[in-house]
Amino acid sequence: GRSESLPSAVAEAVHPDAPFWLPFTPNREFKTGGARLAARAEGIYYWDDQGRRIIDASSGLFCVAAGHGRREIAEAVGRQVAELDYLPPFLRAHGKAFELARRIAELTPGDLNRIFFTNSGSEAVDSAMKIALAYHRARGQGQRQIFISRERAYHGVNFGGIALSGMANNRRHFGIGLAPVAHLRHHHLQENAFTRGQGAQGAELADDLLRLINLHGAENIAAVFVEPVAGSTGVLVPPRGYLQRLREICDQHQLLLVFDEVISGFGRLGDNFGAQTFGVTPDIMTLAKALTNGTVPMGAVAASQRIYDGIVAAAGEQSIEFFHGYTYSAHPLACAAGLAVLDIYRDEGLFERAQKLSPYFLDMVFSLRDLPIVTDIRGIGFLAGFDVAADGAPGVRGHELQKRLWDAGLHLKTTGDAAILAPAYIAEKAHIDEIGDTLRRVLKSF
Ligand code: PLP
Repeated sequence: GRSESLPSAVAEAVHPDAPFWLPFTPNREFKTGGARLAARAEGIYYWDDQGRRIIDASSGLFCVAAGHGRREIAEAVGRQVAELDYLPPFLRAHGKAFELARRIAELTPGDLNRIFFTNSGSEAVDSAMKIALAYHRARGQGQRQIFISRERAYHGVNFGGIALSGMANNRRHFGIGLAPVAHLRHHHLQENAFTRGQGAQGAELADDLLRLINLHGAENIAAVFVEPVAGSTGVLVPPRGYLQRLREICDQHQLLLVFDEVISGFGRLGDNFGAQTFGVTPDIMTLAKALTNGTVPMGAVAASQRIYDGIVAAAGEQSIEFFHGYTYSAHPLACAAGLAVLDIYRDEGLFERAQKLSPYFLDMVFSLRDLPIVTDIRGIGFLAGFDVAADGAPGVRGHELQKRLWDAGLHLKTTGDAAILAPAYIAEKAHIDEIGDTLRRVLKSF
């Protein structure tokens, strides 16, 4: 196997009895020769423990949008450790929490200007579910407890999130989750195969929400959760008009619309958020990942003024209005990182940069269309996905693909038999070319 032949100390630590239990990983394969280890990262590259360079085609896990090893972030976090390392977030606060919330609120659409901090996307999703319930309860609609989500959704892995999840394996091993959830049909249609941007077919699938309203009663439904672009299941771009239609139906029935923008936020689609790209403003957004460029874990919920006011006004003046929060909410290090990152995005015009390079990036991805193994391609902004033909059980070939790509010098995320591309916004055309050449070479090896 590979790792036995590696000389590095870290490779020696990887053996079948190693205590580290890896998440979402076949542990036995990894620890018996399948280990793929990184030692360093800078710009758009990782280096493995043998010093081999690997291009990062997924911004890590869609979070390192400004590129790896940013000195400004390292310095801001280092200064923060020395200045104020930690402060309880309940009944106490520090200036950077207020400042970061203000900066995020400047970027969000509409009046989504109340920011609740968490430590991950999963926590943001579960927090958003609780905010939706608390809002309805505060306005005397406490019976609104059902959530709507969608097949092929990924909303993290906490118990609320797996109830929303539309990915079978993330649910089936744990029961169905603790929240009552009904699922919309997904909008991934064969008719839209190989469509760049939004497909022409399928807006009417949003009317599936009416079926669930008829079944459960609008008065019992709290909120509808969707990713503007379903990211983790292979970049499923919504058909034209689909999100607008969801918004209309939610308004007609007083359902909150929640966009999970953990992947699509902070410039990934070319605008601040997917909400702006698609021209649809939700009531709540969940954020994470690129918020801190992946450096310090942080998530956030952006809620509308109306929702915040509804929850806060309903409580007595000295009462805690929302019984929720984490030891590490608004952690000083995460806030310092977030502020440094938002400065980089602004000062370097990175969202605009990604927007401008998007056609070149999408040309590269769609050029893979001639390979018989590639069965569909989708993409928008600086985010794209393609499917490879299954080989035996679903996911087997996708897993093999990501291994061969790493060994050929390219990192990307696969889910099942879909591969997801999301380069850092600092990418040059030459990086896009390198990603395209490596993909073609490896895809041809099957
Ligand atoms: N929501 C969406 C849309 C995501 O893509 C993800 C992660 O990929 C999450 C939530 C969960 O975020 P985390 O892994 O930070 O908990």
